[in-house]
Amino acid sequence: MKNILINVLGMTCSACSNHVEKYLSKQKGIIDVSVNLVMGTALIHYEDDLDIDTISKYVNDSGYQYGGIYKLDDEKKDHSEKYLIIFLILLIIMMYISMSHMIGLPFFDIIKYSSIYTLLLFILTIPFLIFGKDILIAGIKNIVRKSPNMDSLVSLGVIASFIYSFINMILIINGNKDLLHHLYFESCSMIIYFVKLGRVIDYHSKEKTKDAIKDLVRVTPEYAVIKTKNGEKKITIDEVKIGDILISRSGEKIAVDGEITKGEAHFDESFITGESIPVKKKINDGVLAGSINYDGVVEYKALKIGPKSTISEMVHLVMNSLNSKMKITRITDKISSYFVPMIILIAIITFIIYLILGNSFNESLIHMVTVLVVACPCAIGLATPLAVVTSIGTLSKNNLLVKSSEILEVIPKIDTIVFDKTGTLTNGKLEINKIYNYSSYSKDDLLNIISNIENNSHHPIAKAFKKYLKNGLEINNYQELSGIGVKGKINNHEYILGNNKILKNIANDKQDDEKELLNKGNSIIYVLEDNNIIALIGVRDTIRSDALDTIRKLKNKNFDIYMLSGDNKITSNIIGKEIGITNIKAEVSPKDKIAFIKELKNNNHCVIMVGDGINDAASLVEADVGISFKSSTDIASNSANVIITNDKLKEIMTLIRISNKTVKIIKENLFWAFFYNILMIPIAIGLFKNIKINPMIASITMMLSSLTVVFNTLRLRRDKDV
Ligand code: AMP
Repeated sequence: MKNILINVLGMTCSACSNHVEKYLSKQKGIIDVSVNLVMGTALIHYEDDLDIDTISKYVNDSGYQYGGIYKLDDEKKDHSEKYLIIFLILLIIMMYISMSHMIGLPFFDIIKYSSIYTLLLFILTIPFLIFGKDILIAGIKNIVRKSPNMDSLVSLGVIASFIYSFINMILIINGNKDLLHHLYFESCSMIIYFVKLGRVIDYHSKEKTKDAIKDLVRVTPEYAVIKTKNGEKKITIDEVKIGDILISRSGEKIAVDGEITKGEAHFDESFITGESIPVKKKINDGVLAGSINYDGVVEYKALKIGPKSTISEMVHLVMNSLNSKMKITRITDKISSYFVPMIILIAIITFIIYLILGNSFNESLIHMVTVLVVACPCAIGLATPLAVVTSIGTLSKNNLLVKSSEILEVIPKIDTIVFDKTGTLTNGKLEINKIYNYSSYSKDDLLNIISNIENNSHHPIAKAFKKYLKNGLEINNYQELSGIGVKGKINNHEYILGNNKILKNIANDKQDDEKELLNKGNSIIYVLEDNNIIALIGVRDTIRSDALDTIRKLKNKNFDIYMLSGDNKITSNIIGKEIGITNIKAEVSPKDKIAFIKELKNNNHCVIMVGDGINDAASLVEADVGISFKSSTDIASNSANVIITNDKLKEIMTLIRISNKTVKIIKENLFWAFFYNILMIPIAIGLFKNIKINPMIASITMMLSSLTVVFNTLRLRRDKDV
C-alpha cells in the first residue's frame, strides 16, 4: 500500500469535498481517501500497482481538478487583494458618474448624452461581474440546491438589477429618456465589491490556519545524526529507518520518536505533554520527535517514523478539527435562507397576477423584475463586512488581533471558556515564588550569591535564578552533584544548593516553612552555607498577574470555566485553587483536550479555548473560538482565531464585549438594510393605486439604507466603552 497527498482544485463547500471523497473511494485500486476542504487536499491510500496518472484522472473525472502532489511550500496566492484597489477606484468613478448630477457636481448633461451615460455605466459594470463571477455562480448553485445563502441573495439582486438596467439601457438608447433614473448598474458593482472585500478578509484567516499545519510539520528537524561503524553521519529525516541509532546533543531537537540507549538529559516536551518543566530521560526512556534536548548527549533508537510518529498524529488531529470548523453559518446566510425564497415567491406571484389581470407579458415581467430589484437591499452587501472591518480595527486598537471574522458572530453565543494551564494561566517557566532567608545577608545579596553559583549550571531550575545575578563573584571548586544539586566556594565559604538529599547529617528545624512551601506547589531548593541551612527557596511556575481577576470577572458573567493541563493533578489543583477554577482536568493529552472540547460542543455548549502551546493547537482549532497569545508558539497562534497582542488575559473580556456590540450592530444594520427595501416591495408590486413605483424614491431609499448602515456602524469606533 502507498500513500499520497494531492491538491484538489475547485472545491468550495463541504458538499464538494464529500463528493470527491465518495467518488474517489469507489475507484479501483483506491483503499481509503480523506479529503480536507480547508487545505484543498486529498490524502489517498492506494494499492501498489496504481499510478499517479490514474489517480489524477480519477480526480478530474469527479468533476474537480487534480492540482499535483501537495508540497509544504506550495504558494497559492489569492490575487483578489491586488484587484480590490483597482476596483475601488472603478467603483468611485461609477458612483461619481451616476450620482454627480443628483448632488450638483460637475458632469456632462446626462439627458443630452443619455446613450453615452448609460453605455459608460454598463461597460464599467462588466469587469465587476467578471470579478464576482464566483459569487454569482455559487449563489445560483445554492438556489438550485434549495439552500439559498448570502451569495444567493447577492446573485439574485445583482442579476435582477443588471437585467433590468440592461433592458432599460436599450430603451434609453432607442430614445426613452424617462428611464434614465431606472439604472442600477452601480448598485450591482457596489454589492459585488463589498462581498469580495469580506471574502479577502476570510481568505487570509484560512491561509493562517494552513500555516499552523506547516509549522507543526516543521517542529521536527530536517536532519538527524546517525551513528555508523565509521563514525557519525548527518542524514535527512527521510533516510532514518526504524532501529537506527541516532545522536542528540544539548540544544538540538530529537528527530524521530525513539528510546534512549545511552546517556541522559533533560527534554522539553511541553508541546506534547504540557508539562512545564523539562523532564529527565535516561536509558530505556522514550523520547519524542521535536522535543528539545536541554543539557546532555544521548543516543537513541528510532522507533516510530513518518505518519506513525506522535507529531504526525497531531497534524492529523489539527486537520480533522479544521474540517469540522467549517460549519459556522453567518447571520446573513440564515436570514437569506428565508428571505430569498420569499422574494422569489412574491416576484412570481406578481408576474402571474399581472398576467391574469390582462397585462401584457412584457409589462408583467417588468413588474416582476422591479420587485426583485427593489427587494435586493444594496446595503446588505455593506451591513456585515463594514461592521466586521470596523470591529476588527477597534479590536486591534485594544490589543486583539482577530484572524477569522466569522467568530465575531459566534462569541455572543459562548457559554464555556476552557483554559490551558501552563503558559496560559501561568507564565510557563520556573520562577522564585517564595524565599525564607535565615541568614544575615539581605535578600538581594543572598540571591546574588545563589545566582553566581547557578550561573554555571545547565539544569532547568538554574534558569529561575539567572535574572537575579547582580555582580560577578569568584567561584572556586564548582561541582555538579548529579540528581542532587550544585556546590561551589565563594570567599572561603562553601555553598551547596539542591534538594533535601544535601541535608544528610545536617540539623533541620525548618519543617513548618518546608510544609508551607510544599502546600503551595513549590519545589524546595535548600541553601547551605558551611553546612548550615541559610535559606529555603520555593520555585514554581507562577500565575499570570491578571489571571485571578479575569477568571473572577468571567465567572461573574456566568461563563462556565474549565482548566485543562498535561501537568500532574497536585500541581494543577493547587494552581486551580489559587485562581478560583474548580473544574479541573489534569494529566490530559492533546487528544484528551480535543475530546473534552468535542464533548462540550456535543452537549450544545459554545466554547472558547485559550492556549499557548503546540499541544493546544488542535483544541484551539476544534473550539468554536481559539484564543492564543503573541508570545505563544507559532503553531498555537496560527491555529487560533484571536491573538492577544499584549499577552494579557484580561483582553478576553474586551473581546467578548466588542464582539457582542458588533453583532448587535450587524443585526441593526441588517434590519435597516432590509427595512427600507421591504417597505418598497408593496409599492413595486403596485399595491397602492396612487403611489406608482418611482425610481427616484427607490434609489433614495437604497441610499438611505446604506447611509443608515454606515452611520450605525461608525458607533463601533466612536463608542469609548468598547
Ligand atoms: P535531576 O535528576 O538532574 O533533574 O535533579 C534532581 C533534583 O536535583 C532537582 O529536582 C533539584 O531539586 C536538584 N538540582 C539539580 N540541579 C540543581 C541546581 N542547579 N540547582 C538546584 N537544585 C538542583
